[in-house]
Formats: sequence, C-alpha cells, structure tokens
Amino acid sequence: MTRYIFITGGVVSSLGKGLASAALGALLQARGYKVRLRKLDPYLNVDPGTMSPYQHGEVYVTDDGAETDLDLGHYERFTGVAARRGDNITTGRIYSNVIAKERRGDYLGATVQVIPHVTDQIKDFIGADTTDEDFILCEIGGTVGDIESTPFLEAIRQFGNEVGPENALFIHLTLLPYIPTAGELKTKPTQHSVKELLGMGIQANILLCRADRPIPENERRKIALFCNIRPERVIAALDVDSIYQVPISYHEEGFDTQVLAYFGLPTEGKPDLSRWTSIVERVRKPQGEVTIAVVGKYTSLLDSYKSLAEALTHGGIANNVKVKLDWIDSEIFEDDSAVQRLENVHGILVPGGFGSRGTEGKIRAAQFARERKVPYFGICFGMQMAVIESARNMAGIVDAGSTELGKPGNPVVGLMTEWMRGNSLEKRTEGNDLGGTMRLGTYPAKLVPGSKVAEVYGTTDITERHRHRYEVNVYYKERLEKVGLLFSGLSPDGELPEIVEIPDHPWFIGVQFHPELKSKPFDPHPLFTSFIKAAIEQSRLV
Ligand code: GLN
Repeated sequence: MTRYIFITGGVVSSLGKGLASAALGALLQARGYKVRLRKLDPYLNVDPGTMSPYQHGEVYVTDDGAETDLDLGHYERFTGVAARRGDNITTGRIYSNVIAKERRGDYLGATVQVIPHVTDQIKDFIGADTTDEDFILCEIGGTVGDIESTPFLEAIRQFGNEVGPENALFIHLTLLPYIPTAGELKTKPTQHSVKELLGMGIQANILLCRADRPIPENERRKIALFCNIRPERVIAALDVDSIYQVPISYHEEGFDTQVLAYFGLPTEGKPDLSRWTSIVERVRKPQGEVTIAVVGKYTSLLDSYKSLAEALTHGGIANNVKVKLDWIDSEIFEDDSAVQRLENVHGILVPGGFGSRGTEGKIRAAQFARERKVPYFGICFGMQMAVIESARNMAGIVDAGSTELGKPGNPVVGLMTEWMRGNSLEKRTEGNDLGGTMRLGTYPAKLVPGSKVAEVYGTTDITERHRHRYEVNVYYKERLEKVGLLFSGLSPDGELPEIVEIPDHPWFIGVQFHPELKSKPFDPHPLFTSFIKAAIEQSRLV
C-alpha cells in the first residue's frame, strides 16, 4: 500500500526543504522501503527550462527529457531513484492542462474553477505514474502563506482527507532563530506558521525545526503545546558540516522513527546508514586537496551549477581528496593577462552555458589547458568551446565558431534540425519555441575502442543525459582528427559527435552531455573520478 508524505515549509525560504525531503527518502529506503519523491512548484512557468539559472538555480534534466527543479537532483543523488517527468509539476503546467481540457470541452459546460478543477488536476498528479512504492514524498515549493501555494495546500488537504490520516502525513519544516540578546531559540515564528497551515485545514503531524543549536527541552514542550504536536514529533534539524551528514543526524533525532510510528509501522531495528557514514568519514578526513577552476558564466549563484559542484565533490570522495572549486567568470579571460589565474590550478572545467557573453574567455581557458597540459573537462558548451579552440588553433580554421554566437565562416558548432530518438525523427526549426525544444534527456553513444573515454567508462556503449540545442558538426571530424582531436564518442548513427578527446594530452575530454546529472555520492560518475585523479597527478607537478 502506498503512503503519502507531504512536506511544506514555513517562516522563511531556503531552509533546505529539498535536502530534508531527500534525506527522509534516503532514511526510509535504508529501512527497506521503496520511495519516490516529487516536487510541486507553485510558480507559473510551465517548467523551469526557460528560467534563468541566476534566479532559480540549475535546471535538472531527467532521463525522459523533462526540465525540472533542481530539488529533483537532490532526490536522485540521495536515493538513487531516477527522477521522471511526472515527478515535478508547476502551476503553469496544471493551468495549461486545465485550459486545454476546457477548450476541448471536457468539462461539459461547467464553470471551470480553482476548486475543484485545478485542485483535481493537482491531486491527479500526486497519485499518477506510481507503481509499488511504499512512500510517495511530495515537497511543496515555496513557503506557507504565499498566494501561489494556496491551491496546492488545498489539494493536499483534500488528498489527505481522501486517503485518510493513516495514509497521509504532513511534515512542516520551520526555523527557530537564535536571538543572542535574549540567549534563546525563538519559537513564535514556528507557532505562527503552523497556525497559518492550520488555517488551510492542515494540521502538521511532525515538525522539523532548523536551528543552529540543540532545542532545549522547555522550548520543545512549548512548541508541542502550542502547535498541537507530540513533543517527540518536534524534531531538531541542526546545522551540519556536510550534507551527507543530514540523514545520519535526522536519524539520531528520531525523524524516521517518528514517521514510521505515525503510520503504525514497526520502529524497532536501525536503518543501515553505513554508506552515509563512510562518505562523511571521507569528506571529513581527506588525504589531500586539489583545486579545480570552473570557468563559466553563472558563477555568482552557485545553485546554478548544483549538480556539477556535487559531481566534483563525488570525484573527490572517490579519490579521497578535498576538491576546492575556484569559480571564475570567463569574461575576465578576454583580457590576456588574466589567464595567469589558471597557473596554479590542477584542472580546468568549462561547464554548460548559453549565449555569447564570456565565450571567448572560455575558448582561452580551453587553449590554456591544451597548451599547458592541464587536465581539461568540457561539458556541453565547454565541449563546443574546446572544439572551436582546436579548429582555430590546431587546424587553422581561423573563422571557426558556433551559429549560436553569430554567423561564423566555419560553423563547427551548428543548429541541428533533425535527429533520431529511438525510432522516431525529432525535428527543430529556428522558429521553435524556446521551452522544451532542445535535445533533452537520455541518448546512447558509441565510444571508440581503445580511447581514453572507453577506458574511463570501462565499456564502449553508454547512455547520458542531454540539454542543448546546438551540436558539433560531424563534417569537421576528419580535419580535426588529423590534427589530434579524436572524436571518441558518437551517436549510434555516427551523425552527432558526443565526445572529443586529445590523446596526446594527460586528460583533455569534452562531452556533449551532462554527466554531472547522473553522479551520486555513493556512485561517483567515472568521468569525474578520472578527472579528479588526473588533477591529483597535476598537483604533484605544480
Ligand atoms: N548553448 C549550447 C547549446 O544549446 C550548450 C548548452 C549547454 O551547455 N547545456 O547547444
């Protein structure tokens, strides 16, 4: 039987609701249960695909090609359960479904209203596309009290009522701020937020309270009393030094036990948290340190490269080293002298990106890495920039460029208008909408036997996730291979270059896909493990 856990947030945003949900998923999984995590986002965009990573952080891409909220990345990294299109819904999507139905006449003359039509659509989503999961965890984006979240709260209230309290649990995440002059953790904002939720007809069953210090027994009782929750169900979510410590700390505070107790499930025994303890151990006691320069555009908001930063950390965990990231805005390299900043790093990574700002700087960074034999990892845009660099400076195609950035004489990177997905032909034109019209999701690739990447992956058949509109033009393959840039991975039909590498270099790999999306702390992606290993070797040289 499937049980539903709804996670709402109160008091302030940015309390780490996504991570809290992911950690609870991991704990239930460690108790032997099957989980699936979902996110209900109250914003009006149909999906986050068109949102600037500056504003909303990274867009996480699923195997089935959905552009989703970055919290789905946390879920997948913590549970290993591959996220699907059906695991993220927004107000925009809900309304576009409702309006499409209205236009088709599906509502048979009814006046279409938020209740029941919008709330029904939300409830359908909550229960859709599930199989034999023991728990569906649904995180509601935003903070209780936001105008946008009201229909979602109403929908989960109805849903909880329909499946009955024995099958639905409401968890509310709040903040207990510490006021130094009073020397106390304050409970009032939490009381207000629980009350606000109650005003929507939802009684929180478990409170997860973020705090920077342990909650004194007195305060816990006070919260319990005012919020109508048992004291043992007021759980402290204390600040920790590593995100991998979160499931361990939650367990120590009794979170999973209380969740199981709520549902009347057995609480004896302990979850097997050994994978988390061993990761935390490695993170806390690294055997060394390497510095990686990440040369990109959105470096001022680290959430815009969330999965990338995580995957680099995973590569460090696999090699027992701490990975220090030097985030560099590529624009600074448009001034030649700035490349000195790369002198002392042990690896250079150019991540995904869109648009022309800072591109020449990325090309300079790739050139520096190639010429100075510093490990280079180009991801998506970073691969495209490396190919342009090789074309210009190794093959002498001086006007090589990408049609994303203008009208170059030699478009070594260009807009692909057709490609095969399984047995069907996907088509794009210049005039397509921007939303959801990229090459998105999982595609297979064939690797060249004996290449560096075939060695790294330990196979010549791979599948990886994509999110891009432009492609390296296979027409230039021969000319570039002649000067030393090997096209070591191609789509099965040989039309789309997926990986390039420089065999005559310690580690120079560009990939058209996003390997960071599939890396997990307990299963680091081989490319990141190998890149960090190369950086360790480089650190012995500089
Ligand atoms: N802007 C490039 C493209 O659309 C690269 C995209 C990316 O790096 N994700 O092809």
